[in-house]
Amino acid sequence: MSIYDELDIDPLINAYGTVTRIGGSLMPRDVLRAMDEASRQFVDVNELLEKSGRYLADLIGVEAALITSGAAAGLTVSTAACVAGTDPRRIERLPDTEGMADEVVVLKSHRFRYDQAVRQAGANLVEVGLGDRSHPRDVERAIGEDTAAILYLQFDEFETRNGSLPLQDVLAVGVEHVVPVIVDAAAEIPPPSNLARFNEMGADLVVFSGGKAIRGPQSSGLILGRADLIEACALNNYPRHSIGRPMKADKETIAGLVKAVELYLERDFNAQVKRWDQVVDYWLGELSDLDGVEVEAGYPDEPGIQPSIIPRVYLRWDGSGPDLTMEQVQRKLRNGHPRIAVGHTDKGLVLNPQTLRDDEEKIVARRVREVLE
Ligand SMILES: *Cc1c(COP(=O)(O)O)cnc(C)c1O
Repeated sequence: MSIYDELDIDPLINAYGTVTRIGGSLMPRDVLRAMDEASRQFVDVNELLEKSGRYLADLIGVEAALITSGAAAGLTVSTAACVAGTDPRRIERLPDTEGMADEVVVLKSHRFRYDQAVRQAGANLVEVGLGDRSHPRDVERAIGEDTAAILYLQFDEFETRNGSLPLQDVLAVGVEHVVPVIVDAAAEIPPPSNLARFNEMGADLVVFSGGKAIRGPQSSGLILGRADLIEACALNNYPRHSIGRPMKADKETIAGLVKAVELYLERDFNAQVKRWDQVVDYWLGELSDLDGVEVEAGYPDEPGIQPSIIPRVYLRWDGSGPDLTMEQVQRKLRNGHPRIAVGHTDKGLVLNPQTLRDDEEKIVARRVREVLE
């Protein structure tokens, strides 16, 4: 009897993606093995964090790194590092920022649900630009004595739409005014090369999730960046008494993420792309003859759907098609046997091959047919 049986929980087939609410991703056996090994002995956690950070920074090819309990924790800890620095009294005082520069400048179009993680460190967000139009001057004008950092949300499609600015332009403002830029790139991999890319462009601190495409523990993440700022992050992070103290990444999680990053960088990315393309072709073949349903392959360019490099299948219908809304279809799949999670956006119902286990694409095709027929 599995633990899910014991708890009377019916697991899901995931054709949605690396979505936190349904478990993020599945860890490879070697990651679980590393976690098991780590669980058998005691270690000094500060030493483990320092050496795992050094090891991952070298592996990825960035200046410095720190493992956190997730990308959201990474945002809190990065903000704390920019606000309180390495001063023990300031670190202890957060989220009370009295006497500290505590403003974080952010484009209006980059406001998102995770920016609470930035405010959690005591920072105030200063929103600039228009929702649909921005200029580097907007960012520049907001910078003053109280500025601690600039927050940038990395989403491919924002670079050309939605009033965003290219990261390069925002980084240039940061350099000119000597303000660090924190980049939220939580779900911006694959491609694996993105792990180092934003630091190479000049970002000061970049956060990633460990439990999405990297397939590490779901409660893990990474901050990659400048050595002096990563040192400040470490002082504002677990296990020190600090704003990051409640955001614990245990020794097993730390070990698991190290192994997961190793495996992720070794994995044949082209073979993964090929497998996604095969699944998408299979779905097109199986579903294209559904009555009144338009079925097409595509890459997401709608806000909030990441990563945009992975091909998907979109299904759309109108009055002449099935007498069901997209939400109803989503719900029927979610509550059927087996349970299947899929997404939907303005562009249609979305099937994503990224998180499927072998052969699950067949079950997905069968169930989607049954529901839509
Ligand atoms: C998933 C996500 C986060 C949060 O990441 P966790 O690792 O779950 O804490 C933050 N920002 C963005 C853009 C995300 O997609």
